[in-house]
Parts: sequence; C-alpha cells; structure tokens
Amino acid sequence: MKIVKTLLELRSARATFTGSLGLVPTMGYLHRGHLSLVQSARAENEFVAASIFVNPAQFESVDDLDDYPRDLERDLDLLDTHNVDLVWAPDRSEMYPHGYQTYVTVNQLTSGLEGGRRPGHMRGVTTIVSKLLIAFRPDRAYFGQKDAQQVCVVRRLVADLGFPVEVVTCPTVRESDGLALSSRNARLSVDQRQASTVLFRALSAASVAFAEGQRDGDKLCGLMSDVVATEPLADARYIAITEVETLQDLRQLPEQVLASLAVCIGQVVLIDNMVLGET
Ligand code: AMP
Repeated sequence: MKIVKTLLELRSARATFTGSLGLVPTMGYLHRGHLSLVQSARAENEFVAASIFVNPAQFESVDDLDDYPRDLERDLDLLDTHNVDLVWAPDRSEMYPHGYQTYVTVNQLTSGLEGGRRPGHMRGVTTIVSKLLIAFRPDRAYFGQKDAQQVCVVRRLVADLGFPVEVVTCPTVRESDGLALSSRNARLSVDQRQASTVLFRALSAASVAFAEGQRDGDKLCGLMSDVVATEPLADARYIAITEVETLQDLRQLPEQVLASLAVCIGQVVLIDNMVLGET
C-alpha cells in the first residue's frame, strides 16, 4: 500500500494505475462502516484508493473539529489489511493552501436536515469531495447511506458539474443493537452509549407504522419524537420525513420516504436515517 501526503505524490501514484479505480473518502478513525465501503470498492475495481482527512471546512466549531477522534497509524494498518493500494493523508495546508478561497456549493438540497442544522457543513463536504474527485480521478466513489443527505448532495454535484465518476451508495453498517457505526460513537460514555440506541428505536417505530399503512408525515415524526423523548439523555435536533432524493418535505407520502433524525447525547450529535418502504 502506497501512502502519500502531497498532491504531487498523489498524482504520480495515480498515474501508475492502468485499470479502474475506486475511491473511498473518509475522515479516518475507521470502523466497519468505512471498511464495508473499502470492500465494495475492492470487489468492483482493479485499484482501490482511500483518503483520510479531517476536513475543517465541514466543522462549524473549532471544539468539534479538535474533539474529532484520530488514529492515523491504526487507520493505515486497517486499510493495508483490506488491500487498499493507495492512501492520501494530506496535511491541512496541502488541502487548503495559504490564501485558499474557492468553494463549491449545491443550493436547495443542502438547506434542510444536516445542512440546516450546521451552516457551512455541506459547502465543506461538496468542496472537499470536488477536490478529491479532481485529485484522484476515480471511476467510482463510495459513500455510506448513513449520511443520506451527503449522498444526495454528492450525486447532484457529480451530475451538475459532470464529474466522470459513478457514485456508489453502500448500506449503513450497525452494531448488533442497531446503533449506526460512527467515529463519534467513541466519544460516548457507557450510559450515553446505551441511550444512543434511541435513534434506531425511533426509526424502527416509524418503519413499523409506515409498513402498517401510516402515511401522515407529521404523525410519523411525532412517533419518532415520542420515542426520543423516552430517553432522558437524548435531545432531538431534528426529525424529518422527506422525499428520498430531493429531500423535500412531503404532504402526501409516496411508497418510499426517507426518515432521518439528529439527536444530541451529551456533547455528541448522532445522525441516522432509514428509507421507509424499501423492499
Ligand atoms: P466519515 O469518515 O464519517 O466522513 O465517513 C466516510 C464515509 O463512510 C462516508 O461516506 C460515510 O457515509 C461512510 N460511513 C460512515 N459510517 C458508516 C456506517 N455506519 N455504515 C456505512 N457507511 C458509513
């Protein structure tokens, strides 16, 4: 596995790949969710690359950025054992050189959910993804359904700017009790970890009600909200039922909808989602 830090090194390593390339962008502190993306990329491409970069542009507070867990050595070992060919782990100054002022924005899709809760977050995501797609020129790029809005926004970005890449969405990997794997889970205390299953419990309640015919979006949101309210350590940031691709709020629900929520547990905000009506 080749590990590079600078863009120039990345370009020369990329130039040696003669077959299809799959890219897995990450912020590191890898878990089985990230590794499932690597495995899909490995199965579908001749070469696999990953990036590890905690992107300051998508954090709205310095504290959140500083608290984000990091373990580069362990990440590199994991990627190596998963047969990744190339890793780019740039310094901040390599990604955002002195005087940096170029950003990529996707408008409407970014206004609600995580984009609504975290001003500037989605602009940070679309900027870094654009930079990674330009730098790696992958044939396929792999993203997790765990960050549903991110996938929708990246698909829009790729279509709008005509990036020659196939965006592949991989299912959310969960712990046995339903908690979606996330690097942020490492920051939960034992009590908070127990409380954190409330996201999956809320989504499951909405899924059952939807399967039983509930088509009132407000009622489904109310149901999720009631489940979150049963957990004293949890505080809902948003709970939404939206169209799956446009992320628009819905009056009359179609056969598939996206249920998503963000819940604050102590200082940690966790997000999760489920496509209701998925066969
Ligand atoms: P991050 O390092 O959090 O930026 O995540 C890098 C990629 O891994 C993103 O495409 C995430 O959606 C994806 N990812 C994170 N957690 C999971 C999970 N539990 N299951 C599947 N994909 C995930």
